[in-house]
Amino acid sequence: MITGKTRLTGLLGSPVKHSISPLMHNEAFRQLELDYVYLCFETGEEQMEETVRALKTLNVRGFNCTMPVKLRMYELADRLSPAAELIGAVNTVVNDQGILTGHNTDGIGYMSAVKEKGYDIIGKKMTLLGAGGAATAIAVQAALDGVAEIALFNRRGRSWERAQKLTDLLNQKTSCHVTLHDLEDQGAMRLELADSTLLTNATSVGMSPREESSPIADPTVLHERLVVSDVIYNPRETLLMKQAKARNCSTFNGLYMLLYQGAAAFELWTGKQFPLEEIRAKYF
Ligand code: NDP
Repeated sequence: MITGKTRLTGLLGSPVKHSISPLMHNEAFRQLELDYVYLCFETGEEQMEETVRALKTLNVRGFNCTMPVKLRMYELADRLSPAAELIGAVNTVVNDQGILTGHNTDGIGYMSAVKEKGYDIIGKKMTLLGAGGAATAIAVQAALDGVAEIALFNRRGRSWERAQKLTDLLNQKTSCHVTLHDLEDQGAMRLELADSTLLTNATSVGMSPREESSPIADPTVLHERLVVSDVIYNPRETLLMKQAKARNCSTFNGLYMLLYQGAAAFELWTGKQFPLEEIRAKYF
């Protein structure tokens, strides 16, 4: 029920009409009887400054940002969480009396998913594929949380320079040791995976409609002690996950990251624990 005191939260970006976020947040508010509502606002980069000023004036509680406005929000925030500062992008904003703090819960969501699935990677090594938005958020949060080593693989294309900068940044600012390799270097892949606990695909390779592709050229690099996860959730089981299962690896998909990044945003806005089990059962 909407009252005179209902607090507004929502999502900015484009496109946002397909988003699952309004369903999960509004259902969580309903279940916990919190007087909040979550709405989607189609917003392009050029409208961001004006939109953010308007939301501040209306004293909204906070909002999420998705592509293409995550980078612009990084510039517009009054304050940044340590993770958002290193990632260079904001996906969650909290408004405290007109002070907008930018957070990034994508990496938190991924790391929570790993933990909730029962895997411990703190003090251990992971191999991470990709250097785009999702990969950067995961690498930063993993390094901040205490993963000892990250072997980062990316193709020598659009985001190679970004991958180099991310590698240098994490080596300078955190105690995590990061090495960068070409995604095509299968020799390096085999070597790095041999002592990795976790392999994470954070490229878009394998995402619908290109479901027949995998970021791993040679599945024999996957060994049975390895946990293999994908940030992709459409399809629910990617070709990489199928290859990993065939090699006796445990796997999980990107739905968990999606759920837990939302849960972290919800908890920042409301201070209440997100009803994970109920929302998972209903929408995931
Ligand atoms: P970006 O475009 O920022 O990054 C994509 C990455 O994939 C880049 O490293 C890119 O390299 C690489 N890549 C793309 N195509 C290929 C290819 N053919 N071969 C090798 N590498 C390739 O996207 P995001 O990081 O935002 O998203 C990546 C995936 O993560 C998407 O599938 C998205 O749906 C998913 N995602 C899931 C989330 C969740 O909550 N589960 C949250 C956010 C994203 P290059 O720069 O050279 O193209």
